[in-house]
Amino acid sequence: MKTHARAVVIGGGVVGVGTLYHLAHKGWTDSVLLERKELTSGSTWHAAGLLPLFNLSYSVGQLHKYSVKLYKSLQEETGQHVGFSQVSNIRLACTQDRMDEYRYYAGIARTIGVDVRFLTPDQVQDIWPLARMDGVIGAIQHPDDGYIQPADLTQAMARGARQLGADIHRNTEVTGVTQLPGGEWLVTTPNGDIRCEHLVFATGNFARKTGAMVGLDIPVIPVEHQYLVTEPHPDIQARRQQGLPEMGVLRESDASYYMREENGGLLLGPYETGAPCCYLNGPDPASEYELFQPDLDRLLPHIEAAIARVPAFAEVGIKRVYNGAIPYTPDGSPIVGPAWDKRNLWLNEGHSFGITASGGAGWQLAEWIVNGEPSIDMMGVDPRRFGAYAGAGYVRQKTEEAYRKVFTVHFPDEERGAARPLRRAPCYDRLKAEGAVFGSIFGWERAGWFAPPGYALDDAEIRRPEVLLNKPHDEPAAGEKPRERWSFRRSNYFPHVGRECLHVRDAAGLLDMTPFAKYAVQGRGAEAWLNHVFANRMPRKVGGLALCHMLTPAGGVRAEATIFRQGEQDFYLVMAGGQERHDWDYLQKLAPQDGSVQLQKITTQLGVSVLAGPRARDILQTLTDTDLSGTAFPWLTGKPISIGHAQALALRVNFVGELGWELHHPIEMQNTIFDLLMQAGAPFGLRPFGIKAMDSLRLEKSYRVVGREMSVEYSAFETGLDRFVRMEKPDFIGKNGLAARQGNAANRFVTMQVHGVADADARGSEPVVLNGELIGRTTSGGYGWRVEKSLALAMVRPDLGEPGAELEVVILGVPHRATVIAESPYDSDNLRLKQ
Ligand SMILES: Cc1cc2nc3c(=O)[nH]c(=O)nc-3n(C[C@H](O)[C@H](O)[C@H](O)COP(=O)(O)OP(=O)(O)OC[C@H]3O[C@@H](n4cnc5c(N)ncnc54)[C@H](O)[C@@H]3O)c2cc1C
Repeated sequence: MKTHARAVVIGGGVVGVGTLYHLAHKGWTDSVLLERKELTSGSTWHAAGLLPLFNLSYSVGQLHKYSVKLYKSLQEETGQHVGFSQVSNIRLACTQDRMDEYRYYAGIARTIGVDVRFLTPDQVQDIWPLARMDGVIGAIQHPDDGYIQPADLTQAMARGARQLGADIHRNTEVTGVTQLPGGEWLVTTPNGDIRCEHLVFATGNFARKTGAMVGLDIPVIPVEHQYLVTEPHPDIQARRQQGLPEMGVLRESDASYYMREENGGLLLGPYETGAPCCYLNGPDPASEYELFQPDLDRLLPHIEAAIARVPAFAEVGIKRVYNGAIPYTPDGSPIVGPAWDKRNLWLNEGHSFGITASGGAGWQLAEWIVNGEPSIDMMGVDPRRFGAYAGAGYVRQKTEEAYRKVFTVHFPDEERGAARPLRRAPCYDRLKAEGAVFGSIFGWERAGWFAPPGYALDDAEIRRPEVLLNKPHDEPAAGEKPRERWSFRRSNYFPHVGRECLHVRDAAGLLDMTPFAKYAVQGRGAEAWLNHVFANRMPRKVGGLALCHMLTPAGGVRAEATIFRQGEQDFYLVMAGGQERHDWDYLQKLAPQDGSVQLQKITTQLGVSVLAGPRARDILQTLTDTDLSGTAFPWLTGKPISIGHAQALALRVNFVGELGWELHHPIEMQNTIFDLLMQAGAPFGLRPFGIKAMDSLRLEKSYRVVGREMSVEYSAFETGLDRFVRMEKPDFIGKNGLAARQGNAANRFVTMQVHGVADADARGSEPVVLNGELIGRTTSGGYGWRVEKSLALAMVRPDLGEPGAELEVVILGVPHRATVIAESPYDSDNLRLKQ
């Protein structure tokens, strides 16, 4: 075995081999893969081999699309048969919500170039004559989809990697990894040690064990998954003999199973409720080609549903049941990207559809490792989208939930209930008493909207269609009634959110934003370093505030921060709560090592209450001696103030476009401040509002959000952040990249008014078209209550983004006329927030 390699990949399942293959293709032929047993002896060998393109995550959708394309060419490249059967994949819909999901998905698919077709029940019947169409109202078909032989696929990529010079060592268990003082990794195995510059973990069910070697708590726990294969059925055999095509993969989403032909019989794979986590402490050291005892009771409801749909299924015996472990993460998407807190350590773990994703994940990870950045927005799979809150107990509950919800309708406003509440701001109970309906972000409970006293949905409003998956909504907690119905359309909370928006416009609202991530940056080099890390200039004066963006070297947008200058070399950074680990990781890795800058994460030390609306000043002024007038306390400044007998750092900034302050206070004073504000605000009509109202209010100001309008795929200029980018600064990360891209933008940020909306606003990821041609995609959308317009933010072809341009936005399959309008349709001169 070599003693040195450019990169070492640990794990010889389909995912590790896919990574090695792509590293070799990127020119890192001096890479090595180490597998403790045989290739594919983990989860890979027993996978059903399906390649579902369907995925509502932009990142995962891109990975799957790439994989399917790659797998078609592998045999030709490597000479290894991969058994790709492009038999297409049909997903049935038995409910209107399901059809909406497909319509929404079809929009996403169009924007990323995946072919999806809608079928009528009759058309499905033609393709699948063995199936009955009772209750089916429609279907979608992926013609490019199908299945593959997972072991052959893995061997093909292994051969491809070896052909380019990469090495694979089987029966070589990694027993330890250590980062050497120079940054290299020392990988220890019984067959010798190997040093490398970059190390990749792709260890499937062993992820937690592997993570423990370097002190990382990787949020992956496997869940048992079963599929069964029947004896051959004469009708299917007859079809073969007649030379008829395979019927393809059939997914009855509303009954939570997939089915396809297998050797003249059928293969059925349900996603059951009650499937347990496994390997809680990792698989046994001897584990290899391991399967668990089948649990047919758990499969029974799905078998019955499958028989009702395909009666032939009941006419043949079950040949074999496979019950194996699938790695899962709390949200069901894999973990692909850099490990937090470590340099040159990469994770390709948590793959629950690893056969489908391995090509794409290997492709993007190799780009990230070799080029320094992925070429598509990987936020949906970034390992740092979870935080330290995701310990084993949390992950266990969430992975079981992710598994049983594989086939539920993935409503865009779905708020899953497992492992909640976890992180609660002190004012949680007070908000709850005010009627808050909570969602969760990064483990925090966050008020989405406020229901009127006594408000609850009756049973008829929570539609329970007669399908197996008839409980898409979690049961409310004991003693509570459901108050929220998830939907792709305007839902029951729509008018209540509207009331909150108008109240913020007319009086004042209070929003808890405690989940904001908060950092202190101090030290003699603080200002210079921040000016290097962010594209904007740091506020010149103590007490000044600036909106700043962290860019990629190519000029894409990685993160956004509100930066307050507290002292000469003392800065306070407020950043997206959901990105805390991601942003903190970059800050830490970029920080100088010479002691000139000290970084501190202070998220949980401080709560944040946002007071906004025309009466905000009147309310706050009753509680403080600080002069809050526009001249004494102008927009984009901040200062410490007292609030009654409590205190806070008041920042004159907010995300809703009204007069207001963000009050950053010691967390232990939160309830005191909450009570003081609510009491003082009562005569002015102060009421709490939620994050859904904030999202509508920010749309009307064309405020961008990371992960939507701002992403590594779009340059800061494309996103229209020009006024926050100081090209005249001598240097900042992304400056050269931006300079190189100047004048050749591929996209342009626009705000659009969408016409003719009845009950479904844009949400983001809808296609934007002109004369039938795709010319962009929406990034956000919703109803603007203050401007009384349905709005969409979008990235479109630059020449089509002038205000006045007439385009179309396709919402749930229906094209709507959309006019590009000037930015910030509400209070475009910012008079209200500056007053
Ligand atoms: C019943 C079933 C059906 C499935 N069907 C499908 C399907 O149809 N489509 C689909 O896309 N996915 C399917 N899956 C999921 C798929 O099997 C997994 O997502 C995929 O195999 C994960 O691949 P992996 O490489 O991450 O993990 P694995 O295949 O488990 O590989 C990890 C490897 O790492 C090795 N390893 C661990 N620790 C070390 C160490 N310290 N040193 C050296 N080596 C180490 C292990 O020995 C193992 O070989 C199915 C899974 C199951 C259980």
